[in-house]
Amino acid sequence: MKLAIDDALRERLARIRVLGAARIRPVGLEADRAGAPLPAEHPFFAELVKLGLGRTRWLGGEDADAAEAAAKPGAEATPGPSLTGVLLSEEMAYWDRGVAVAFPGPGLGEPPILSMGTAEQKQRFLGPFRDPDRPRWGSFAMTEPGAGSDVAAIRTACRRDGDHWVLDGDKSFAANASRADWVVVFATSDPSLGRAGHRAFVVERGTPGLGDFRVERKMGLKAYESTSFTLRGCRVPAANLLGGEERQAQRAGFKGAMQSFNATRPIIGAMAVGIGRAALDEALAFARAAERLEDPRVRDRLERIARKLQAARLLCWRAAWLADRKRANVLEASMAKAVGPTAAFEAAALGMELLGEEGGRGDHLIEKLFRDVKAMDIVEGTGQIQRVLMARQLVGLPRDER
Ligand SMILES: Cc1cc2nc3c(=O)[nH]c(=O)nc-3n(C[C@H](O)[C@H](O)[C@H](O)COP(=O)(O)OP(=O)(O)OC[C@H]3O[C@@H](n4cnc5c(N)ncnc54)[C@H](O)[C@@H]3O)c2cc1C
Repeated sequence: MKLAIDDALRERLARIRVLGAARIRPVGLEADRAGAPLPAEHPFFAELVKLGLGRTRWLGGEDADAAEAAAKPGAEATPGPSLTGVLLSEEMAYWDRGVAVAFPGPGLGEPPILSMGTAEQKQRFLGPFRDPDRPRWGSFAMTEPGAGSDVAAIRTACRRDGDHWVLDGDKSFAANASRADWVVVFATSDPSLGRAGHRAFVVERGTPGLGDFRVERKMGLKAYESTSFTLRGCRVPAANLLGGEERQAQRAGFKGAMQSFNATRPIIGAMAVGIGRAALDEALAFARAAERLEDPRVRDRLERIARKLQAARLLCWRAAWLADRKRANVLEASMAKAVGPTAAFEAAALGMELLGEEGGRGDHLIEKLFRDVKAMDIVEGTGQIQRVLMARQLVGLPRDER
């Protein structure tokens, strides 16, 4: 495994560091104090677009897939799109994970379009994100009030009606949904078919029947919206069924969701590592200022956290490196997702302990990180679900795809 990064990526990381200190962290604190997501018209988002951020990683065309290029012999010196995504995500989350998710871009909606969409669909839905004229968002809606970890239990119904599909159901906690140009919605054509009934649609903003957007309250990560919404007799053109009906009937909807998780779980793991690093830095700075570093017990605990974060980070890198080579990474993606948030939670908890009263007052960054980090264990398959998947694989049971 070669993890060398080139000068171009080093430069991008350095730019995020500068932007992070100057803008990402202050804007994240602003949203946290306000207790509400940054509005879509916040000038920060237009600034990001001007800086060339908020774009798709789709390069256009079928042949221009960077993952293909990375898989070619001799391409090891260039980090592929997954490893690049993991490195940039960790750095952004170091400064503020809520703001990182609020960034314009196709977001979690991008992986299913990349893995399932036809060339025409990629052009229609990701094309506008190649050189966006304004901040644009995409969104991903799998979760429902009655279906979280058990993805197979989704009940949002889809039925064919001429050259449209009609969608009915409720979705919850979809990032950036109310401001998105489109939402990738997972539905079922027949719950009795289980996963074979799953279909993935791109539902465009303004489609009649898509509505009732409700931004949920959250304990942390307040800078971005987690939004519930309804689909009521929502007529979606057949051309918006990802990959077309023939492909979807071969369980493409369910498989596409699983492939998305293989791409996004290492990113969530890496974002957690970013939050954990921020917590460790804050804890270290506090312990130094309070002259606690002479105490070997404090040093021991700080060292243990630093080691765990580094180990978690390497798991994320490995999962991403495999994805860039189009090699199976389902186990590694679960490992990255299971380990990153646990290490980060420990870092934030240690910070809270060291700060004592000061942390408890609620106005120190550590306290915010402590609230932010919890969701990292929950999203994209909880830590418990990852452990269930890994344990089944270890003892040779068939895959329980969640
Ligand atoms: C901040 C935030 C952002 C989110 N963003 C999105 C988004 O953009 N799009 C989207 O679709 N969803 C999103 N979600 C939803 C998220 O994916 C779900 O919350 C997650 O899948 C867990 O589902 P649940 O909350 O219904 O918990 P449940 O599935 O009800 O689980 C509750 C608890 O039971 C455990 N558990 C469940 N089943 C098992 C089992 N078989 N064995 C052992 N333990 C089990 C779980 O680990 C968990 O601890 C978001 C959630 C949060 C908190």
